[in-house]
Amino acid sequence: MREHRDGVHDVLVVGAGVAGLYAIHTARQAQLDVVCLEAGDGVGGTWYYNRYPGCRCDVESIDYSYSFDDELQREWRWSERYATQPEILAYLNHVAQRFDLLPHIRFRERVEQAHFSAQESVWTIRTASGNTYRARNVIFATGSLSTPNIPALPGASDFAGEVYRTAQWPDTSPSFEGKRVAVIGTGSSGIQTIPMVAREAASLTVFQRTANYSVPAFNRPLTDEDYKRIVRDYPERRRNARVSGGGSPHQAHPQNATEVTAEERRAAFEATWRTGGVLFSKTFPDQNIDHTANKYAREFFEEKIRDIVRDPDIIDDLIPTDHPIGAKRICTDTGYYETFNRDNVALVNLRREPIEAVTSSGIRTRAAHYEFEVIIYATGFDALTGTLQRIDIRGAGGTRLGDLWRNGPVTYLGMHIPGFPNMFVVNGPGSPAVLANMILTSEQQVGWIIDLITHCAQTGVQQVEARRDSAEKWTEHVTELANSTLLPLANSWYVGANIPGKPRTFMLYCGGLGNYTTICEDVKAAGYEGLVLMTRSHQWAS
Ligand code: NAP
Repeated sequence: MREHRDGVHDVLVVGAGVAGLYAIHTARQAQLDVVCLEAGDGVGGTWYYNRYPGCRCDVESIDYSYSFDDELQREWRWSERYATQPEILAYLNHVAQRFDLLPHIRFRERVEQAHFSAQESVWTIRTASGNTYRARNVIFATGSLSTPNIPALPGASDFAGEVYRTAQWPDTSPSFEGKRVAVIGTGSSGIQTIPMVAREAASLTVFQRTANYSVPAFNRPLTDEDYKRIVRDYPERRRNARVSGGGSPHQAHPQNATEVTAEERRAAFEATWRTGGVLFSKTFPDQNIDHTANKYAREFFEEKIRDIVRDPDIIDDLIPTDHPIGAKRICTDTGYYETFNRDNVALVNLRREPIEAVTSSGIRTRAAHYEFEVIIYATGFDALTGTLQRIDIRGAGGTRLGDLWRNGPVTYLGMHIPGFPNMFVVNGPGSPAVLANMILTSEQQVGWIIDLITHCAQTGVQQVEARRDSAEKWTEHVTELANSTLLPLANSWYVGANIPGKPRTFMLYCGGLGNYTTICEDVKAAGYEGLVLMTRSHQWAS
């Protein structure tokens, strides 16, 4: 390990999740001295905190795994098509040990402040425990979905029973046996939690504000035969995934939904339905762009759900009518809709009877009072900007990130922020992030950032930051791309609609991982076009 000079690290990484672990590894490979600050007690980030029952990844495990090390890839054996949270967490711990990353991580260090000194070209980082760190470069690998959204419901603190949040689940999972349980929220987290809790609880009441689209995972164990094929095909699978839109090797139908016959369309939808989960949104290339194509997909979905749910009063409430299918990430479930056929499960439609208050013994809506022993909040996250904006980040001249982003995030390539030299964000706003496989997006962005840091160190560049006009242009491009699709039409966390007062702006690059990678490589080949590289003699180098 290279020792830091003058108490100043080459690289400080915030967060020891998927991106942070890879940042430590890559920085070390580049002979940089690196330290990582992690708020939690262990590695894993999102997979450390989201321990709720039923938690799994909605990307196939063989794709949702690091690709940087061939031996790791061949030796690690996933037990199922879609890995559970404990298995993913075990994998990330294995990676941390295998590549000797733990000595670089300081656990229980929550970053509260990051201030840049333009004179020294050094970041000073302060943590909640009172410690101070200094570094030439800071990489925020703080995740896209890491600050939970807990709605300020009147009377919430009066509830005398047990309260849980899917995003901050206790280490030892509670028992729901014999208890009346409420789940608020029907996003991916709620949809995974609900079937598990229903099996155990005396009764489960689901409080749904917006019906969601969910497609069964068709999960299954991976066999020896599967593994022979996987190991054989891995290089090609990874190549295809890296140039794809979503970071997985699956291809959409070669024609548009609007160009094929009704029979061909049905066969294609049936095939991706059986592939399972979120991949259904990728059946046809025009499905997320064209209203008619989307309507076909929606009708197919509706037919399937009407076949599963028996109670006609519940079916209509479970089928979304207010946003196109795929405009929010399609959920991937195991027995979600079937859960509503159980005698111990009820659905409350909050559009008809909004929550008025939480009481000491339950939840009061406009129509009734419901009694519970347990309330589970599955109410999502202040995504993409929430975590960074809660840290007091000040760039050159004391510019506050919160001020710069008051009307929405502005970034260059999602990784650079004008006025914040030597600061980098992984999976930030303006990058593909959760629209693609987060492990591959993390590898691509971290690799790019560490290359840039190395380039700066080798060429005497002291400060690197985005030009303001390049960041504005990139952010406009991100918005224009989104507006050419149906994605902004849902009130999703993609546009910040789930957080009261958050500026409405589509925050993700939706041009796909492959195109994004090409753009980043072109920027690099053009001498880091769009960035300002300042040398030691304070001359503009680019
Ligand atoms: P989410 O999609 O934002 O869902 C939050 C749910 O809570 C929504 O149903 C929302 O209703 C509801 N809600 C929020 N505030 C409420 C309030 N005041 N009153 C009543 N209901 C309220 O959050 P999530 O389920 O945690 O998922 C977020 C993202 O995490 C996913 O899109 C996915 O990218 C990722 N994720 C992935 C997996 C996986 O890989 N399988 C699992 C979990 C999460 P509205 O829709 O009306 O706002």
